Amino acid sequence: METAAVQPEAAREILQASSALLEGHFKLSSGKHSPFYVQCAQLFARPALAAQAAGELAERIGYADIDCTLAPAMGGVIAGYQLAAALGCRALFAERPAGSFELRRGFSLKPGEKVLVVEDVITTGGSALETGKLVQELGGQVVGYASFIDRSGGKFAPPEGYWAWAAVQAPVYEPGACPLCAAGSQPVKPGSRPEAVK
Ligand SMILES: [Zn+2]
Repeated sequence: METAAVQPEAAREILQASSALLEGHFKLSSGKHSPFYVQCAQLFARPALAAQAAGELAERIGYADIDCTLAPAMGGVIAGYQLAAALGCRALFAERPAGSFELRRGFSLKPGEKVLVVEDVITTGGSALETGKLVQELGGQVVGYASFIDRSGGKFAPPEGYWAWAAVQAPVYEPGACPLCAAGSQPVKPGSRPEAVK
């Protein structure tokens, strides 16, 4: 049985203790199949474990001069809040009511404010980079990107820097070449996005 590689290994215990690292047969939002899925919401459903992870991530970032975190809603909201609590800074989130990210709810950035963009899971980093673009448009400064889970396989490497609490690499298969399908099982879709959205 192939396993998911988790770095650092100590993070695996917290992911398993919080039921965030699922084993089975999953259809990912990319359409590919995998025997593993990280459901980060399960980690945030256990605040004590999430706070421990956030503390470890904040320590790794080791950057005292951050004015606020900014997270793309919905997935990044709790991640950004939890990490801001560990860093001791403000926690904002951006929403997409009409296609592109914007700040609502009275949130604003002062010119030059140092912003850490935070996600729960980064796979391609698309939403995170869009959020970083919003920071620049608003006159803030992106000091880096952070996520609790890195599923980019090292491909997400923005020039400002990127920190993750745990890197998780799992085998992925094209639907037509999936050994789990070949063995007769049906994939389940555990994600948060509607089928049509990639
Ligand atoms: Zn399959």
